[in-house]
Amino acid sequence: MFENLSERLSGVFDRLTKQGALSEEDVKTALREVRVALLEADVSLPVAREFVKAVQERATGQAVTKSVTPGQQVVKIVHDELVHVLTGDDDPGALKIDNAPAPILMVGLQGSGKTTTTAKLAKRLKEKNGKRVLMASLDTNRPAAMEQLAILGAQIGVDTLPIVKGETAVQIAKRAKQQAMLGGYDVYMLDTAGRLHIDDVLMDEVQAVRDVATPRETLLVVDGLTGQDAVNVASEFDGKVGISGVVLTRMDGDGRGGAALSMRAVTGKPIRFVGLGEKMDAIEEFHPERIAGRILGMGDIVSLVEKAQETIEAEQAERMMRRFQKGQFNMNDLKMQLEQMLKMGGMEGVMGMMPGMGKMAKQVQDAGFDDSILKRQIALVQSMTKKERANPALLQASRKKRIAKGAGLEVSELNKLLKMHRQMADMMKKMGKGKGGMLKQAMKG
Ligand code: GDP
Repeated sequence: MFENLSERLSGVFDRLTKQGALSEEDVKTALREVRVALLEADVSLPVAREFVKAVQERATGQAVTKSVTPGQQVVKIVHDELVHVLTGDDDPGALKIDNAPAPILMVGLQGSGKTTTTAKLAKRLKEKNGKRVLMASLDTNRPAAMEQLAILGAQIGVDTLPIVKGETAVQIAKRAKQQAMLGGYDVYMLDTAGRLHIDDVLMDEVQAVRDVATPRETLLVVDGLTGQDAVNVASEFDGKVGISGVVLTRMDGDGRGGAALSMRAVTGKPIRFVGLGEKMDAIEEFHPERIAGRILGMGDIVSLVEKAQETIEAEQAERMMRRFQKGQFNMNDLKMQLEQMLKMGGMEGVMGMMPGMGKMAKQVQDAGFDDSILKRQIALVQSMTKKERANPALLQASRKKRIAKGAGLEVSELNKLLKMHRQMADMMKKMGKGKGGMLKQAMKG
């Protein structure tokens, strides 16, 4: 998948990374080529435009990292931005299937790969999750489609609802639900009828089925080769029936891949799986990191820049430690700490890692502390002036009010933050005292 886009981009970046120093013009030219490559891959215009703009902004504001070339840094930024536009579910493969029997509704146009995908997912649920699955075809117009599902079911060892001639889709859905309950199934999958195009008859039928089945997941299957059309189909289905995710099929082909890049940005719905062939195992969870890696094919450079950035962060942390040792700990330091905490998985995670802070972590947890508080505290510091940050003792009641208001919060919350700062500053002073101070020890270790 993504061969063409991948080739185009690697050409652009090969030229870029060979250069030692980059001018703004070099980056601009490269990004212009990236934009063309995205458009040729059938990424929607607004998404391509937004993409290039985001990369440009981040590339401009980027601190120069020693030990990597600017070109390599740009590759990393493009990579991160790819991950960003591809953003999906944290756990795309985790289908909501508690409360057995859980209904999964499969929707999409005819020929999108809906029946094949239904069977692929049923096989996954059976083998990976150990679930008992029942599949039912609701395609009353096409007896062949019903038989196809039965054949696939037999092939993968998953039961299908017996075919009863003359039933409507809604009647089949009701029978599937009943059968799933009586038969002790964990999941039942409804493979709805497709049409060649979206029309009212199709949507009415899918809506009616949805209303009787109240599915836990409604997965739209779309053909990844159709590029922007796939995205349009997703928008329409989502508007009319509401979908919980998308499965992009035929991603094994040399498609242009644009659908994958535009899907989330345009429809707001995550891609959950990609179909990679006709075989029953040819399905994969959709992981933005992995996909971005495949598109760029520059994993080495990405990890090189990541390492360099880690070094810079370590240097920053060391500088901060030295300040703490001298007993310097102002609101800017506090803000940096708060931001670092957010990045490292929140208060609880960080405190648990710091020596002697385990107990405090427990208190923090008991006090109902969560990451939204971190964000609010950062906002409070941001509303302070430079002088106030350096010396919070300057803050008078009227300023406190203004600052709290600026951050959209109560003064009591600001007071809590100031108290926390004082306590931390005291602790830093104590820890940093003397040659054998705890901080120094910790830094050596
Ligand atoms: P439906 O009409 O939406 O139910 O589509 P089908 O499930 O019958 O699939 C139509 C054709 O596409 C079949 O020949 C499938 O084997 C094929 N197909 C489905 N998914 C994929 C995929 O991910 N990759 C490839 N190469 N073919 C697929």
